[in-house]
Amino acid sequence: MADSARSDPGRLDRMIALVRRDVPDLRLVDKRTVPWMRALGGLLRPVVPDFGDRMTTVIGPTVYLPRAPEELDPDALAALLAHEYVHQLDQGEHGAMFYLTYGLTPLPLFRTHRAHWERRAYAVDLMLAHEIGGDARLALVEARLRTVFGGVTYGWMWGGRQAAATFLKPVADAIRAGELQQEAPYDRILATWRGDHAG
Ligand SMILES: [Zn+2]
Repeated sequence: MADSARSDPGRLDRMIALVRRDVPDLRLVDKRTVPWMRALGGLLRPVVPDFGDRMTTVIGPTVYLPRAPEELDPDALAALLAHEYVHQLDQGEHGAMFYLTYGLTPLPLFRTHRAHWERRAYAVDLMLAHEIGGDARLALVEARLRTVFGGVTYGWMWGGRQAAATFLKPVADAIRAGELQQEAPYDRILATWRGDHAG
């Protein structure tokens, strides 16, 4: 997030304030300090090898980070919290159904509902990539997400890279056209990222 991101010292604070408007009890926790999270990481390692070391998990107001918040780059953490914010909004709106459908893990032949939730959240990653580095950077993140969605990272959300590419394309197209940026909650996430008062 270095180049045209113009690291902004207020960005992380603004993003936390945005999330707290909907999630007043927001907590950032280093998941390595949580025994049951460590146990879960060990359990999931054969299926989701990155769970313990690299992935962030959100449950209600608590965001479980792979490291202590101070160890993360502030802009990267702001982007990460914006992704988790979409999950928190969806959890708030759909309650138990979110967790149930997120957790279902059928065979890697079918698209899981987890892919639906993650596409909504990764739309933030795509949008911010476009904000930082235009179409070129958006294309890079889109390519990486094909692997994320089509592969093992989330326990096969989608059957293969090609299917994942087709699934992700409408979101990337909407960003290239400047449309997603005008939809909630992406509009206020972007305004917060930029430091516009409109957020
Ligand atoms: Zn996610």
